Amino acid sequence: MTGRLTVLAGPSGVGKGSVIAEVRRLHPETWLSVSVTTREPREGETDGVEYHFVDQAEFDRMVADGELLEHDAHMSASYGTPRVPVEAQLAAGGSALLEIDIEGARQVRSSMPDSQLVFLAPPSFEELARRLTGRGTESADRVRERLDRARIEMAAEDEFDVVLVNDDVERAAHALVALMTTPTALE
Ligand code: 5GP
Repeated sequence: MTGRLTVLAGPSGVGKGSVIAEVRRLHPETWLSVSVTTREPREGETDGVEYHFVDQAEFDRMVADGELLEHDAHMSASYGTPRVPVEAQLAAGGSALLEIDIEGARQVRSSMPDSQLVFLAPPSFEELARRLTGRGTESADRVRERLDRARIEMAAEDEFDVVLVNDDVERAAHALVALMTTPTALE
């Protein structure tokens, strides 16, 4: 028996990171994939916990050797999911959770069609726009660029199996973990 792979993706600014942090807190038994990235660690991040931090040469080698299940670039850094740990977890009959961007989710769908794709959506587009522009320190062009991208990313919702609304981080985290074991357990 093989386990189920669940992929959480969604537009930038929707709060994927907060939902995953809440999953770690409420359900520490959850098996979460640790991505590789070429970006610098942020304060409080530990190599091997949130990410494996690698340089571009090592990232490129992993891509060339087929070691990544999917990969994408984001804000001039590269991100990818190491293949072997995910496959080993599923082969052992366990469930696995990936938090990646929308393009990565598309790649997983084509290489592992049985995976469950969960789209984390904001309560409304206005709410997402508020979160994306809330800082008020950016130029009008930069704000417009972010909103245009958000609109494109929101349109990807239809490609996903399940839409999970991030109206409450704790509720979303519980619902996500429930979906990992019982795909119909959302409502
Ligand atoms: P951050 O740098 O803020 O941790 O993440 C930036 C973006 O990269 C987020 O949208 C996150 O979902 C995405 N991301 C993180 N890990 C991966 C990965 O392994 N693959 C892909 N495709 N995207 C990822």
